[in-house]
Amino acid sequence: MRKVIIVMLSIAFAVTACEKVPLTGRKQLILVPNNDMLAMSFTQYKAFLDTSRVVPTSSGDAEMVNRVGNRIRQAVESYMNSNGFAKRLEGFQWEYHLVQSNQVNAWCMPGGKIVVYSGILPYTQNEAGLATVLGHEVSHAIAEHGNERMSEGLVANGLLQAGQVAAGIATSSKSPQTQALFQQAIGTGGPLMYQYFGALPHSRKQESEADHLGLIFMSMAGYNPAEAITFWTRMAKASSGKAPAEFFSDHPSDSRRIADLQKLLPDAQKYYASARR
Ligand SMILES: [Zn+2]
Repeated sequence: MRKVIIVMLSIAFAVTACEKVPLTGRKQLILVPNNDMLAMSFTQYKAFLDTSRVVPTSSGDAEMVNRVGNRIRQAVESYMNSNGFAKRLEGFQWEYHLVQSNQVNAWCMPGGKIVVYSGILPYTQNEAGLATVLGHEVSHAIAEHGNERMSEGLVANGLLQAGQVAAGIATSSKSPQTQALFQQAIGTGGPLMYQYFGALPHSRKQESEADHLGLIFMSMAGYNPAEAITFWTRMAKASSGKAPAEFFSDHPSDSRRIADLQKLLPDAQKYYASARR
């Protein structure tokens, strides 16, 4: 009997474990139930805001973050809902905040919890620049890069085995080990940005994918994708000869990133053209 159950769970594991990323179609390992992922994310986001200097929404810059964030969100929702990816947005509670800080950074946690640091605004310069950054960050969330990293961490640490997957993680999401892995994958432990981009960077593969998806989503939202190349070129100039800012440090090399974006530009421009129609 026990054997049968294990076999059945293993089949369930095999079926649910492999998902395809929207737009790129890349296969990825997703093991953590979305509910658990979002619950951990929302708790940490709130804790982060409670201890940060959140810029009031009455300020022009915070309003801009809200406006650009909402446009990206609408583009993402419309694409995902009409292309069979609605499940990935289940439970999202989108929120956008500008936080007073010199850090040149921004991020989006699972479930659409976004923070933009005021330190990145001199680099984004305009709404299309900000849309480039938000498109990239939101793409990490909807491609479930955090879940993927955490899933890989759980397997690598022997915390998940085929027979235990779904039930195991659901009941153990509050365990210290699971929390620690979440911190590593997404977390806000210590300086959030640093964890997110610095100490444990997204893989190169995930970064290029977020660039790709972000370029398409900003185009769908009606921002000129050519501005993404302008933005990254500006960032490359600003960071050359200096220690790289947090936002760049673990992202692909500037020249590689710009070359990759240029290849994707004709496709992105089609989405931009139909968004403007
Ligand atoms: Zn990134």
